[in-house]
Amino acid sequence: MRKINFSAGPAALPENVLKQVQSEFLDWQGQGASILEVPHRGDAAVALLKEARDDLRTLLEIPTDFHLLFVHGGGRGQFASIPLNLLGKNSKASYLLTGHWSKAAAEEAKLYGDISIAANLNEAETPWCIPEKSTWSVPRDASYLYYCENETLTGVEFQAAPDVSIPVVADMTSSILSKPIDWSRHALIHAGMQKNIGPTGLSVVILHKDYLSQAMPITPSIFHYKNQVAHSSGYNTLPMFNVYVAGLVFKALIKQGGIKAVQAINKRKAEKLYAAIDGSGFYKNNVDKSCRSTMNVTFHLPTEKLEKQFLRDASEQGLINLAGHRTVGGVRASIYNAMPESAVDGLIEFMEAFIYRATHACHPVT
Ligand SMILES: *Cc1c(COP(=O)(O)O)cnc(C)c1O
Repeated sequence: MRKINFSAGPAALPENVLKQVQSEFLDWQGQGASILEVPHRGDAAVALLKEARDDLRTLLEIPTDFHLLFVHGGGRGQFASIPLNLLGKNSKASYLLTGHWSKAAAEEAKLYGDISIAANLNEAETPWCIPEKSTWSVPRDASYLYYCENETLTGVEFQAAPDVSIPVVADMTSSILSKPIDWSRHALIHAGMQKNIGPTGLSVVILHKDYLSQAMPITPSIFHYKNQVAHSSGYNTLPMFNVYVAGLVFKALIKQGGIKAVQAINKRKAEKLYAAIDGSGFYKNNVDKSCRSTMNVTFHLPTEKLEKQFLRDASEQGLINLAGHRTVGGVRASIYNAMPESAVDGLIEFMEAFIYRATHACHPVT
């Protein structure tokens, strides 16, 4: 039986998508072969890739002067690809550190260039808050400013893209397709696909055409944006299964009414969950209201012992993968696009019942 899966990634996929994959797994589109077995340069695969691309362009309203790539290496692959491709002659870039993933991206970029820190969220101080723009220090000669739109571990999310005079690069791994993207403020966005899109391993990279000519000569061909653009993402064998599942997810989102409709549902899901936390006097979220994530809702219970009990009980009731990241602890409910609103309602009911058991029962959990 399928459970309600709050995993941060690889995350739950829409059940209808999985059923369709299952139903045509042995014989995909009358090819007499599985999608895993068809030639990646055959007509059917090429058409599939084009359709997935077109649908993603429609969903995110990607302007025509941006290229759209599917590339290997997931999120971290881009932590290296971005500096290799974009640092340019002066090798300078600036990173906004708001949590685990932006820090990891900056560490990787330091292998290739002169990386300065524009601002640094201090996790020792709560509530966690994205540093005020007036405190940022962004060198004017940096090739780009990098930020992570949604820090998946802590649940800290930018509500608007940074507005600065140098090109902006964003990691949208855990927030892509949850809301519209302001293209006027971005030079490049990237997203590992296993959070809100499909199977793990690939990244979506969407970059403005002006940023194809500054790659370092040592850039591996497989990570070279200009090379990948020239080969329409097919410089080597692209895993078509991943593109196929992503394509089904794109179709499902279009059917749901597009990104604005999905955003409204996401907003409702997150608001009711935060309201349940804030109103409980029991659960506690550490993120300032101005930058709470719509996708990853994190919270703590009064004691670690209660947290363990909470996670055990939840799992017994079919609510799985709610443990916070090992470096943060606590509870994390990842409620990406594929998480139905009814499942969030179920979690809230469970949370309310747990408080009752922990505080009123003859043998309270302490
Ligand atoms: C999960 C995640 C990554 C890492 O993705 P991998 O594909 O495992 O390298 C990077 N950034 C963010 C924001 C993430 O949530």
